[in-house]
Amino acid sequence: MNVNQSVPPVPPFGQPQPVYPAYHQSSYGGQPGSTAPPTPYGAYNGPVPGYQQAPPQGVSRAPTSSGAPPASTAQAPCGQAAYGQFGQGDVQNGPSSTVQMQRLPGSQPFGSPLAPVVSQPAVLQPYGSPPTSAQVTTQLAGMQISGAVAPAPPSSGLSYGPPTSLASASGSFPNSGLYGSYPQGQAPPVGQAQGYLGVQTPQRSAPSQASSFTPPASGGPRMPSMTGPLLPGQGFGGPSVSQPNHVSSPPPQALPPGTQMTGPPGPPPPMHSPQQPGYQLQQNGSFGPARGPQPNYGSPYPGVPTFGSQPGPPQPLPPKRLDPDAIPSPIQVIEDDRNNRGTEPFVTGVRGQVPPLVTTNFLVKDQGNASPRYIRCTSYNIPCTSDMAKQAQVPLAAVIKPLARLPPEEASPYVVDHGESGPLRCNRCKAYMCPFMQFIEGGRRFQCCFCSCINDVPPQYFQHLDHTGKRVDAYDRPELSLGSYEFLATVDYCKNNKFPSPPAFIFMIDVSYNAIRTGLVRLLCEELKSLLDFLPREGGAEESAIRVGFVTYNKVLHFYNVKSSLAQPQMMVVSDVADMFVPLLDGFLVNVNESRAVITSLLDQIPEMFADTRETETVFAPVIQAGMEALKAAECAGKLFLFHTSLPIAEAPGKLKNRDDRKLINTDKEKTLFQPQTGAYQTLAKECVAQGCCVDLFLFPNQYVDVATLSVVPQLTGGSVYKYACFQVENDQERFLSDLRRDVQKVVGFDAVMRVRTSTGIRAVDFFGAFYMSNTTDVELAGLDGDKTVTVEFKHDDRLNEESGALLQCALLYTSCAGQRRLRIHNLALNCCTQLADLYRNCETDTLINYMAKFAYRGVLNSPVKAVRDTLITQCAQILACYRKNCASPSSAGQLILPECMKLLPVYLNCVLKSDVLQPGAEVTTDDRAYVRQLVTSMDVAETNVFFYPRLLPLTKSPIESTTEPPAVRASEERLSNGDIYLLENGLNLFLWVGASVQQGVVQSLFSVSSFSQIISGLSVLPVLDNPLSKKVRGLIDSLRAQRSRYMKLIVVKQEDKLEMLFKHFLVEDKSLSGGASYVDFLCHMHKEIRQLLS
Ligand SMILES: [Zn+2]
Repeated sequence: MNVNQSVPPVPPFGQPQPVYPAYHQSSYGGQPGSTAPPTPYGAYNGPVPGYQQAPPQGVSRAPTSSGAPPASTAQAPCGQAAYGQFGQGDVQNGPSSTVQMQRLPGSQPFGSPLAPVVSQPAVLQPYGSPPTSAQVTTQLAGMQISGAVAPAPPSSGLSYGPPTSLASASGSFPNSGLYGSYPQGQAPPVGQAQGYLGVQTPQRSAPSQASSFTPPASGGPRMPSMTGPLLPGQGFGGPSVSQPNHVSSPPPQALPPGTQMTGPPGPPPPMHSPQQPGYQLQQNGSFGPARGPQPNYGSPYPGVPTFGSQPGPPQPLPPKRLDPDAIPSPIQVIEDDRNNRGTEPFVTGVRGQVPPLVTTNFLVKDQGNASPRYIRCTSYNIPCTSDMAKQAQVPLAAVIKPLARLPPEEASPYVVDHGESGPLRCNRCKAYMCPFMQFIEGGRRFQCCFCSCINDVPPQYFQHLDHTGKRVDAYDRPELSLGSYEFLATVDYCKNNKFPSPPAFIFMIDVSYNAIRTGLVRLLCEELKSLLDFLPREGGAEESAIRVGFVTYNKVLHFYNVKSSLAQPQMMVVSDVADMFVPLLDGFLVNVNESRAVITSLLDQIPEMFADTRETETVFAPVIQAGMEALKAAECAGKLFLFHTSLPIAEAPGKLKNRDDRKLINTDKEKTLFQPQTGAYQTLAKECVAQGCCVDLFLFPNQYVDVATLSVVPQLTGGSVYKYACFQVENDQERFLSDLRRDVQKVVGFDAVMRVRTSTGIRAVDFFGAFYMSNTTDVELAGLDGDKTVTVEFKHDDRLNEESGALLQCALLYTSCAGQRRLRIHNLALNCCTQLADLYRNCETDTLINYMAKFAYRGVLNSPVKAVRDTLITQCAQILACYRKNCASPSSAGQLILPECMKLLPVYLNCVLKSDVLQPGAEVTTDDRAYVRQLVTSMDVAETNVFFYPRLLPLTKSPIESTTEPPAVRASEERLSNGDIYLLENGLNLFLWVGASVQQGVVQSLFSVSSFSQIISGLSVLPVLDNPLSKKVRGLIDSLRAQRSRYMKLIVVKQEDKLEMLFKHFLVEDKSLSGGASYVDFLCHMHKEIRQLLS
């Protein structure tokens, strides 16, 4: 082995490279290995808080056939269940097609294996060829509102009415069940939109000038159609006038990028007012006549008008409007990145490299830094001082997905076994050996790259150094040459100094009236019979090491003995739910293969046993308690799969009441809707975490179930929540079963602790995600799967050094599916800068948005939603104003200048601001909001990207034989042609929109009906037809679903149909029904905010 090779393509680590299994056989790649003794593990929190097991009492044993539990008063809340959402009797549109919020794909849209990136042709957006420039300048002329401002009119009759129309609109939705919400009685909130007034929240230091918003001199009228009760005379909703342009500048050029900005005024910028005649254009002299969308900006940048030096006083001008084609386009940015960076592998050897966008397919070669699939940062170049960081207001954060799934072409991390001595660590800060550690004194010592402590190299680890000071075995050891790898943990890393037992799965099934009536229980039991053969397995193991157990419940719990020696399963009822305990140990958790016959018999019997139940009340906390106790008794970690239907109102710990109240929306008490109504679940979650008990919750509500409270335990234990409102087997089984299969087969790390160490100068100060923390540094995860991220924010505690940069090391200690204790290490080196321009050049907007959304979604727990929105707007304005002031060359204040890397920040941030959590429409229920809130908390960057800015794909424009995904178009109604068909997806929802003038042949090919009018609105399945178009569209739908971590149910929407309202909710560049601003308007508003800050 050539020890001196400089950059080995793949380090020859003398151990077989673990193959990362495809999704179906989940396993970690490493080899099973023997392990042994001592090393202290700083991060791990030793003994778990003891749990007092309740003495057995109140057990009543009954034979399996003991029939249904006592029926109690049946309240049958489900009578109207299926169509609960929009009021009974208002079911105009056929089947209830409930679209659920689904979490996004764990990782990149790898799509086809190794497929050479679907490079979509540069899109329809005339946004122009990729600005080679390092900076985009978008100039928005003074956005003054004149008194004459006409409300921005809706386009073509498919109106976005003023918010006041919400009430009626909400009542008239068919039960498309987009959110599966229920009638709420209360009028929809109308006033959510006031947010744009420059109300500063105290949390983030806002410059004083930002807090006062100067209305235009003209004091024009409000823009009712804009954001409803907007602010008085605010420029925002008004006639946004602007003039975009893009400056070409040498790509990596340093600072004075602004210089190009003032290039010779090119051809007149595009500005047309096709649909919103009310917009006015303030002319600073260099605008040309209005004209249609410009097809393409050449590289030599044409349309840069030179603005006067002053924003100029407000003056009414002829109505014109900002050309949407000329403002930064997400589609174009995504496309450019795919074209520029999708062809070469991303090699991680260089510090501070910004990876390709999450929307680009690319392969990663680990040469010393963790793959962007594991860690993405808001910036790869950190300001050296906290003063600089404060000035820029760019959050410094990393979105970490420690167990990310990888595409088949990339190897999962090598497993390093250091035998009895365990992983080598710094004695002081406990950082793990990594490529950045410096070996000195001929290899006898090493200096820690995190804390600078000098450590002795243990004799067994000694190795000579080469002439460059590098260990000669550097490339033979993953921990010395790779960004990511695993260590086998010794017994010191295990609870109670004992190697763990394999984990267990416990299926806990609600068998109350609701669950039985909908057919859920029968469906689930049937599915489990086969699904149990696909439990996660380690590497090459023949069968899963995971044991399984079964509980059913309503007001009481039924445990089942499924010991292999039994002829029939035995049921044990625990009715004392106040003092939960596990009535049996032996025979409760079993190996699937050994007990197959008994398990099958049980799953056959459960639906029959409860078929006639009239029990409608359920308990919830005792169920989790029971599962946790069972794991504790078996001395193992594991996961509970709870299938639950209703608000737990039965007398028991964790009993809840219906406290939903839409009147609280837009009040200071709105935050209570997101908070749990009792602290009991937090306490319970803490016990679960201590036991390594992760909880996945499948909800099937017909009405309010208080997701905010029920999701506390899943959230704090690293679990997942799925919600199927108004569940009906015929409509929803595909989605439910698909999610269930995936969830059960997921690779999970159990009983995990994660710590992020940093080099001197910065430290992790804040964490977001699904986990529990009992101190300020250790992220405790009862379970962690390959879809979940932990977001970490960093702050300075000292000055950083440009030369040495900044280092992160994420260490995750966990128990594998086979019960092996391991440490997964990810390292990442970042650059540090003394020039703000370097920060702005190395930012990643998608990650920024991921962080900002999580920050805001947590903020609503404690602050009024409006204040949270204002904080986001202010921060965004500060970020951009700082750039404008420090990095762009002097230019007119009339110009909005955006850093190249952040040119999409306004459009994406606007999507966050008008999301259901921060600005709910009338059809969005409290449960929906709580659900989405917790989903976003652990989303990765790819998931938040498509969630906030959905993909809209035209289907008939590209050649029928084309096998690649059609190029997306911007999410705006303007982009829809009524002669075409589109798919829209955001990772949770999937729509097929059919234009009213679509060719008859197309209609026939796709729907097998002869005319548009015969297409059934709300359809959720396309007929399987043997023609190229049908195959192509169905294939595309399958492919989109495969890219996402939750099944997206299809809803067919016809143009001008009532269901279209639901669809339009996702056209995020447009004004929203709930009062959210259009992209154009928001950009104008942002410009105004920035100018305020600069003046
Ligand atoms: Zn150290």
